[in-house]
Amino acid sequence: MKRLWRWFYNLKRAGALGVWLGLGLGFFWLWLGGFAQSPHLLVVDIGVGALGLLAMGLAFSRRKFQTVGEFQGDLELGLSILISSFLFAAGFRPDGFPAVFLCLACCTLLFSKRSVGWLCGAAIFLDVPVTLLGQGGRNWKGFVAHVFWMALFAAFYHLVLSAKFWSARRAEKNAIEARMKELEKRALRLRLSGETYSSQTEWLLASVREVDGALENLLKVLHYALRADSAAVFLVSEDRQSLCWHLGAGDIQQHKREPFLSTEGALSAVLKKEAPLHLFSENGLKSLGYCAGRTHAIQALLATALKGKEGVVSGIVLVERAKGAPFQAEDEVQLSVLAQEIQRVMDLERIMVNVRRNASERDRFFRVVNDLNRSSSPEQVLSAIIESARHIAPLDFCAITLVDDSEGKRFHRIARVSGGDVSMEQKAFEDNVGLVASVVRYGVALPSKDTLPSERHVVFCENILLGSMGSIKVFPLTAGERTLGTLVVGSKKKLAIEADGLRMLEVVAISAAQAVLRAQLFEQMEKMATMDGLTGLYNHRTFQVRLDELLSASKRYGRQCSLILFDVDHFKSVNDKYGHPIGDYVLKRIGKLLRKLARDSDIPTRYGGEEFALIMPETDLQGAQVIAERIREAVMAEMFQTEQGMLRVTVSLGVATFPECAKDKAALIEMADKRLYMAKRKGRNCMVATSSNKGASSKLLRESTTSSLLAQ
Ligand code: GH3
Ligand code: MG
Ligand code: MG
Repeated sequence: MKRLWRWFYNLKRAGALGVWLGLGLGFFWLWLGGFAQSPHLLVVDIGVGALGLLAMGLAFSRRKFQTVGEFQGDLELGLSILISSFLFAAGFRPDGFPAVFLCLACCTLLFSKRSVGWLCGAAIFLDVPVTLLGQGGRNWKGFVAHVFWMALFAAFYHLVLSAKFWSARRAEKNAIEARMKELEKRALRLRLSGETYSSQTEWLLASVREVDGALENLLKVLHYALRADSAAVFLVSEDRQSLCWHLGAGDIQQHKREPFLSTEGALSAVLKKEAPLHLFSENGLKSLGYCAGRTHAIQALLATALKGKEGVVSGIVLVERAKGAPFQAEDEVQLSVLAQEIQRVMDLERIMVNVRRNASERDRFFRVVNDLNRSSSPEQVLSAIIESARHIAPLDFCAITLVDDSEGKRFHRIARVSGGDVSMEQKAFEDNVGLVASVVRYGVALPSKDTLPSERHVVFCENILLGSMGSIKVFPLTAGERTLGTLVVGSKKKLAIEADGLRMLEVVAISAAQAVLRAQLFEQMEKMATMDGLTGLYNHRTFQVRLDELLSASKRYGRQCSLILFDVDHFKSVNDKYGHPIGDYVLKRIGKLLRKLARDSDIPTRYGGEEFALIMPETDLQGAQVIAERIREAVMAEMFQTEQGMLRVTVSLGVATFPECAKDKAALIEMADKRLYMAKRKGRNCMVATSSNKGASSKLLRESTTSSLLAQ
C-alpha cells in the first residue's frame, strides 16, 4: 500500500499532473463521444467531468495530500480515483462499470473505514447522473444493482483486509507468547524464578539472557579448548525426574531438545555417582539416551555434574568428540573448572534476581504504606487499604470490617468488600465466635499459622457466607490498645499467599489501623465543627454558612426558601423545677423530633440555648407553616418521664420566607425572630407566619396552656 502511495506521490513530484489531466480528459472525451446525441446529458457529463478534474486538482495541490491516513487527504485521493473510474466506466459504457467496483475495493485496501464510507456515498451520488438520469431514461434497476455491488465490493475487501490483519496479529501474538513461555521455562530450569506472584517478567527475561549469554561463551571455550566437536549443558528439572537440554556449542543437532528421564542413559551415571564420566568407543557410543535418532556417532564423551552450593546436582555439562582420541585426565580438570564457572554464573544470577525481587517488593510495600498515610477521609482510607492488600498478595477476596460499640452492644460492620459478593457490604452482625469477632476480641491474626480454607470457619457470621476459598486469613486493625476492625483476605488457591506476603499484609494491617483511626478522628473533628454535641443537629456556624449558600442558590434559580425559628416556652422553669440534666434531655428529644420531621434537603439546627431553626429550601410560606404546625404539635405531644412525674413542654415558632418576607439573610432571620417574639407575646405554644397581628397563626390551645402543661 505504501508503495502504491509513493507511486502516486512520485507521479505528482515528477510533474505527472499533466499525465493525470490527459488521462482524465481522454476518458472525458470518450464519454462525450458516447453521449454526443443527447445535449442535456452532455451538461451533466461535463459537470461530472469538471468535478473529477476539480477533485484531482485539489488532491494534487494540497500539501496535506502527502499524508495517507489523514481523512481529508484520503478523501481527496479517493475521490480523484473514483471520478476517474466513473469517467472510464462512462467511456466504456455499459461494460466499464466494474472499474468503479474495483476502485472502491482498492480504496478499501488503501484508506480508513471512515474515508471509505464517504467514498461509497460519493460513488452512489455520482451514479445518480450516470445511471439514474443517464441515457435511456431512469434505470432504477441498474442503479440499485450498482449500489448493491459497490457496497458488496467495499464490504468484501474490508472483510478480507480485516481477516488478514487479524490473522497476522494473532500469529504475531502467538509467536510472542511462545517466546515468552520458552523464556519462562528457561528461567524455571535455571531456578531463577519460582512460580511466585512477585516474579517480574522483564527482569526474568533479562536474567535468562544474561545467564544464557555467559553459558554460551563458556561452552564455546570448552568446545575449542578441549578440541571437542560439541559441548552442552543439561539441567535437572525441579522434581529431579528429568534432564533437559539447555544450551550447546558446536555440532549439537542430534541432542534431544525435549526432557528425558534422568534415571536412564549414560548421563544417569553422572547424576548417580556425582563423578565425571569418560566413555570411548572406536565404533561409536551407543544408547547415550540424550541423542535423538541412531545416526549420531560419538566416539568420546566426557561429562561432569554441575554442583550447587549445598552440593545438590543441578545439571550436567558434557563434551563430545565424533572422531579422535579419548578425553584425557587434564581435559577432565579443565571441564570441572569450567563446570564450576557455569554453576557460579547460574548461582550469581539467582542471587541477583532475589535481591532485585526483594528490593521491588520493599519498594511496592513502602509505596502502599505511603498511599495509606496520605488518605484522610474514611472512604479514601478503605479504598487505599483494599488496594494496598491487593498489591501485596494475589487475593481473590478482600474485606474490611469495623467494630461498632456505640449502642452499648458490639456489632461488626462489613465496611468494604472487594472481589467477592458486594451485597455483603454494609451488613452488620453481632459479636459471635466467628473469625472476625474472635480476631477483634483477642487482637491477633487468625488462623495463627499460614492460612486455612474458608469451609472450616465461620468468617463473618452464619448468615453472611464468604463462599469457597482455599486460603483465608483475618488480620486485626489494631491502633494502640484498641482493635478497630479487621482486614479479611482470601484466595481461591490453597496456600496461595506466601509467608512474605502474610508478613507484609500484617504490617499493612497495622498501618491501615492507624489510617482508620486517623480518618475516624478527622471525621469526628469535622462533625464537632459542624454539629451540635447535645442534639446532633447542625450548629449555629453551619446554619449561617448553609443559609448563605441556599439563599444564593434560591436567588440564582428564582426559588423560595423558608426559615422556621422556634424557642421552648418557659424553659427556665423546666431547668429550675426538674434540674439541668432533665433540661438537656428535653432539648435532645426535641432535636430528635426535629430531625424526624425535616426532609433530607432541610437543615435542622440548634440555633442556640433552647432555640432551634429549620431551613427549608424550595419551600413557600404555606408549606413552611404546615411543617411549623407539625413541629409544634409533635413537641406538645411528647411526654418526658422524670422523677417528679410526667413533663410536657411547648414551643413558640416564627416563620419567614425568602424572597416574599425578606430580601436577604439578615432580614430573613430578623423576620423569623420577630415573628417568634410575636408568638411568645400571643401567649406561647403557637406559630406566627405574618407580621400583621391578624395574619396566619396557630390558635392558642386554650384547654391546655403552657403553664398547665408544666404543672403536670
Ligand atoms: P420563654 O422562652 O418562654 O420566654 O422563657 P424561657 O424561660 O425559655 O426564656 P429564657 O431565654 O429566659 O430562658 C432560656 C433558658 O434556657 C435559660 C438557660 O438556662 C436555658 N438553657 C439554655 N441552654 C441550655 C442547655 O443547653 N441546657 C439546659 N438544660 N438549659 C439551657
Ligand atoms: Mg424559651
Ligand atoms: Mg430563649
